[in-house]
Amino acid sequence: MSYTVTSREVTVAADEFISRFRDVERIRQFCLQCPGYGKVWSCPPFDFDPCSCSDGFKTVRFMGTVIEFDEPTRQACKSPEEAVSVGRQAMEEVWQTLLPRLYEMENQVPGSRCFTFRCSLCPEGCTRPEGKPCRQPDKMRHSLESVGFDITAAARDLLDINLDWSADGSLSKTITLLTAVFYP
Ligand code: SF4
Repeated sequence: MSYTVTSREVTVAADEFISRFRDVERIRQFCLQCPGYGKVWSCPPFDFDPCSCSDGFKTVRFMGTVIEFDEPTRQACKSPEEAVSVGRQAMEEVWQTLLPRLYEMENQVPGSRCFTFRCSLCPEGCTRPEGKPCRQPDKMRHSLESVGFDITAAARDLLDINLDWSADGSLSKTITLLTAVFYP
């Protein structure tokens, strides 16, 4: 497997980011169709108002990390299952570097909050299906989409990134991880 990683980012006023891209009820309809709905504590449904996660901040640093696969890697995927597996492995590899950076950015400014990706911190699986509390609430973070942001529109309008979807089961040319840090 071979891929390159590039990043783009932009800093905007939090009010602008929220007014343009937060639409909790509409985005929740997409979450409802996800097989992971309700299975991880970082995903809806929540027992709190998801807007409370992004209210009260001044600025937003919005980041796109683009994984681009080379053609031999894409051609080597002979089945949809293989494409999913290669995509997941690459995301996991990149995430190992990206997540600590997000925590670090958050730690640098007291009162800030990072938004990550669907939580996969526990290798043994999430406790939510068993109805038990989150094992690592101090480390678990929500994704932007889980709390109602239209990340497809935000990536397109702010970063000039069009998310790549594979319609035929092949490995898409790119996978983009969209993350953010909200600053007070
Ligand atoms: S930290 Fe573990 S228990 Fe908590 S949401 Fe993530 S996977 Fe689930």
